[in-house]
Amino acid sequence: MKRIAIEEAFVTHGVMNAWRDLLHTGAVEDGFRLMGESILADTPLNAPLHQRLLDVGPDRIAQMDRDGIDLAVLSLTSPGVQVFEADLATALAAEANDELAAAVRRYPERLAGLAAVAPQDPQRAAREIERARRELGLVGVIINSHTHGEYLDLPKFAPLLTAAEYERMPIYLHPREPGPGLIGPHKDYGLYFATWGFAVETSLHAMRLIMSGTFDRFPKLKVILGHMGEGIPFWLQRIDNRYQLQVRIGAVKPLKRLPSEYFLENFVITTAGVTSNPALRLALEVLGPDRVMFAADYPYEDPAEAVHFIEQADIDEITRAKLFEGNAAALFGWPIHR
Ligand code: MN
Repeated sequence: MKRIAIEEAFVTHGVMNAWRDLLHTGAVEDGFRLMGESILADTPLNAPLHQRLLDVGPDRIAQMDRDGIDLAVLSLTSPGVQVFEADLATALAAEANDELAAAVRRYPERLAGLAAVAPQDPQRAAREIERARRELGLVGVIINSHTHGEYLDLPKFAPLLTAAEYERMPIYLHPREPGPGLIGPHKDYGLYFATWGFAVETSLHAMRLIMSGTFDRFPKLKVILGHMGEGIPFWLQRIDNRYQLQVRIGAVKPLKRLPSEYFLENFVITTAGVTSNPALRLALEVLGPDRVMFAADYPYEDPAEAVHFIEQADIDEITRAKLFEGNAAALFGWPIHR
């Protein structure tokens, strides 16, 4: 059995420099300013993180060896290109995808990649998804939640979703700090960060996709949520229950199916960043053994700890093999033990 980790972050020098340039201009979203000031600051504490994010070479492979990770699916770290204007974002995404594809070609047994795209220009994002799949061999798409406060359910993003569905590229809906409409109350106490705000932002995005009927329009679209499903598995029964009430009183337009049916059909989740046995038990009970997969969230989390968590979890060996390998292989169309 291989251990496949599917929410593993990297960054290019191009994107890192462009983030710094943007922060210096002053015209940035509140959330990105807060994140940038903490994560991007040139401090001795941040230096090892930046080094690990920028490395897609032998040092990363050696770290994977130490941690017991056989295959890492890399993606451009949050917020990726989604903070830039459309032209710059589109160019930086293509450049990042080229660099990622080159790294995967160097280590085809150890690395795979999700394509970055710029939702700011949905048509060009759609073409980049096609290029990433057909020319670069990337296996999915990374979307770092909102783009200038907009979410993928809006009709303007249909070309992006059409391409992802057609090319069979699952979309990893990854967190970032809350969008402009949500950031206000999250500015205090560090709540904009991964303690809370990331899950608020990302679960909202996922719920917008479900409640907008996006999966009636794109029934084959697959969405991956990290962090044990960003809280949604816990709420699923109540979501259905209150949705049905809202339909009865005319407070919401009925969907073809229940919210939970879309969640269980169109979504899969990963363990990224969660090492809680009760959370894993709940996820497996709600989603079943075929829709939960392993991720470590390197370099923000310790992959050795994440591996140990699944190794010691009180689950049967078939479920363990599905978490580590089988479910990711099924999602990305890989043979087992590829
Ligand atoms: Mn992550």
